[in-house]
Amino acid sequence: MPMDDLSERAAALHSQALVWDSHACLPLHPDADIDALERHRRAGVDFVSVNIGMDMNPLGQIMAVIASFRAQLGARPERYVAVRDADDVLRAKAAGKLAVAFDLEGGVPLGERPEMVQLFYDLGVRQIHLAYNRNNSIGGGCYDEDVPLSGLGRRIVRAINRAGMLMDCSHTGYRTSMDIMALSDAPVIYSHANLLALAANARNIRDDQIDACAATGGVVCVNGIGRFLGDPAAATLTMLRHIDYLVQRVGPDHVGLGLDYEYEQGLPDSPPGFDRAFWFPPEHGYGDGVQRRNATPEQLPEITAGLLGMGYGEAATRKILGENMLALAQRVWPPQQPA
Ligand SMILES: [Zn+2]
Repeated sequence: MPMDDLSERAAALHSQALVWDSHACLPLHPDADIDALERHRRAGVDFVSVNIGMDMNPLGQIMAVIASFRAQLGARPERYVAVRDADDVLRAKAAGKLAVAFDLEGGVPLGERPEMVQLFYDLGVRQIHLAYNRNNSIGGGCYDEDVPLSGLGRRIVRAINRAGMLMDCSHTGYRTSMDIMALSDAPVIYSHANLLALAANARNIRDDQIDACAATGGVVCVNGIGRFLGDPAAATLTMLRHIDYLVQRVGPDHVGLGLDYEYEQGLPDSPPGFDRAFWFPPEHGYGDGVQRRNATPEQLPEITAGLLGMGYGEAATRKILGENMLALAQRVWPPQQPA
């Protein structure tokens, strides 16, 4: 096929398709400007899950961030839809608005209380993982001793299933993730995780974790972080290799995108006494001085063009861009009364 035909087809498909980014980061500060997400919308993204806290963030900080983000979304109804269920995502797309939900990175902010899951759900959180890089009383993080899911963790997984929140295993240790995927009665996702077979980093996932995720009916969303892609030069080309590895292994129904793009706004958002080397261990490639490229929202059309260029059909490409995650949201998030 001539290149011009391909790029025209890709541009048309990218603007028509539902594009779902399973994870993005704004500063965890109430002064963060949510309109930064306009870059996502202009890049053809229809839904984005925005992080509102991690295991190292105090609950007061997380609550201030949620309050700010909810207020900003509510003040700009011409631009955003604050997502309650999957229908909200479709309504947003039809109106050319950006659908936004929140995600929590780690279970420490639950304060060892499973009923906190429903409270976070009521505040707009639709996706959660239980350990951020390090171990906690719920289970294991990917840069720590490999421990199983605890009894408390089992109660929290059940609370997540009951609330209808997406169960996520990103940043989670191997044994804990396998325990979660065996226990959960709903599909489990990796909202932003790459593959150990293609890049050596303990944050990346093994083949049997991919298989276990797919067996739950879940989706592995590839991220655009150079450190985890394993190629310092070309983020989207390497993302395509990770996507293709997943498709070859478990098929196109279990693959998605979670760029993990971080909007910098010069706001201080590290909590007091934050120990960077503990949460982001230098021995795992953090701060090693190697310049690596991360994928930007503006590069997402390159993924669409790349998939078509690799011979993927339009149906499979649409699934990877967002339809797989939409189908999970339709299955997992309880339908709400119309607004
Ligand atoms: Zn993350």
